[in-house]
Amino acid sequence: MTTATSPHAFWLAGREATGDETFEVTSPWDGRTVGIVGIPTEAQVEQAVAAAAGVAAEFAATPAHVRAAALDHVSRRLAERSEEIARLISAENGKPVKWARGEVGRAVSVFRWASDEARRFNGGTAQRLDSDAGGVGRLALTRRFPRGPVLGIAPFNFPLNLCAHKVAPAIAVGAPIILKPAPATPLSALLLGELLAETDLPAGAWSVLPVPNDRMPSLVRDERLPVLSFTGSGPVGWSILDSVPRKRVTLELGGNGAAVVLADYSSEADLDWAAQRIATFSNYQGGQSCISVQRVIADASVYDRLVPKVVAAVEAQVTGDPSDDATDVGPLISEDAARRVESWVDEAVAAGARLLTGGKRDGAAYAPTVLVDVPADVTLSCEEVFGPVLTISPADGEEAAFAAVNDSRYGLQAGVFTHDVQAAFRAHRALEVGGVIIGDVPSYRADQMPYGGAKESGVGREGVLFAMEDYTYERVMVLTGL
Ligand code: NAD
Repeated sequence: MTTATSPHAFWLAGREATGDETFEVTSPWDGRTVGIVGIPTEAQVEQAVAAAAGVAAEFAATPAHVRAAALDHVSRRLAERSEEIARLISAENGKPVKWARGEVGRAVSVFRWASDEARRFNGGTAQRLDSDAGGVGRLALTRRFPRGPVLGIAPFNFPLNLCAHKVAPAIAVGAPIILKPAPATPLSALLLGELLAETDLPAGAWSVLPVPNDRMPSLVRDERLPVLSFTGSGPVGWSILDSVPRKRVTLELGGNGAAVVLADYSSEADLDWAAQRIATFSNYQGGQSCISVQRVIADASVYDRLVPKVVAAVEAQVTGDPSDDATDVGPLISEDAARRVESWVDEAVAAGARLLTGGKRDGAAYAPTVLVDVPADVTLSCEEVFGPVLTISPADGEEAAFAAVNDSRYGLQAGVFTHDVQAAFRAHRALEVGGVIIGDVPSYRADQMPYGGAKESGVGREGVLFAMEDYTYERVMVLTGL
């Protein structure tokens, strides 16, 4: 049995392994050791890659029902162990346990959908080619085949579900995967490995390797891993893409999510709902979600009534110990992260922004914060804050509000509070983002829908089926003489 002080094994080609060195995983809340994790040696990483490449053809040929059964098993086991896993996520990440339970629930669904899709996928098409004289007597059949082994790289903020987003679609299509979890939060991924090890997937089909960042460039460039699915920060993601221009790369990167409140969304009930959703989803995961609400853009006609409601709802967020069921907002991932957020808020205030609530740091915890009158050129207005900080600004009408959303390098998702179906379609057309959420905040994500960014927020789409398409390619067979 592994304890907090005995090293956790990692998973090399489906089997437990330990390296020569270890690193410590500590709780962002109280600094206690949550686990000690083995670091794979270079030889072990090579072994995992060779195993993935070696098993690729065999795994691609595994019957769909076998892959579907393995995925189904993982889904069921995640559900059975959900409370234990939620507590582990909360301990290593600092996420309030109630949000961690939600994350486990999503991972249960991701594996179940992947199981369903594995059964359905690859129906292919048959196409007569005789619409052209040269095609008379010919038939084209199409099937999708895996591109090859996948390297999945995950960030710290959803340490289980973002790993599920990489692993489940890979297994569903029969592509081997090497999963690289974030250094701050590897334990949830290693536990996922325990459940994968209970299946009879072929050895080599999956590995979970906590490889240190400085050893990642050679793994990223390894030609035996032609597919790379990365979720994390922009600078790391774009530099990866630059280093492997010929690979199939998906980048799921950051954003500075905007919620727009249009003029028609003006009854007391409307503004109460909008304020509640904005306050909750600027602070959930301590604001460390790529689709947190960072910017609220309210029509000038509702701005003065909305601001105090948002401030009251933000002040009602319960901060504290993430293991407590009542806690809404825990610490950030580290004290360094909280210091960075503090410095950006201080910079905005020094430049003339007004702090309506929050603005205080205690170790790794940063208080839920609301600012108005924030100058457009300060860091907080331009960059992804990745903390529990919200700015609110007025806009003169819908066009100005949509222009303000688009005035960003990022384009992940946007929320638009309106009842007007025409305005909804105008928003869908105008907003340069991967997803427009009508009647709610940008933070809504269903794991079966296509999800990803425009502009600097990334390339490619996740969502179970969309990742399966990404990990495979269509190969046509033409039959002649029919
Ligand atoms: P990060 O970029 O620091 O790390 C992400 C992963 O990349 C980690 O596993 C890390 O170890 C690894 N990594 C670091 N250097 C590497 C290198 N040179 N080569 C290969 N891998 C390397 O990001 P983070 O701080 O863990 O996560 C926060 C970021 O992730 C935020 O910007 C957030 O918006 C983004 N994010 C995006 C989505 C999305 O779906 N769009 C979801 C969650 C988080």
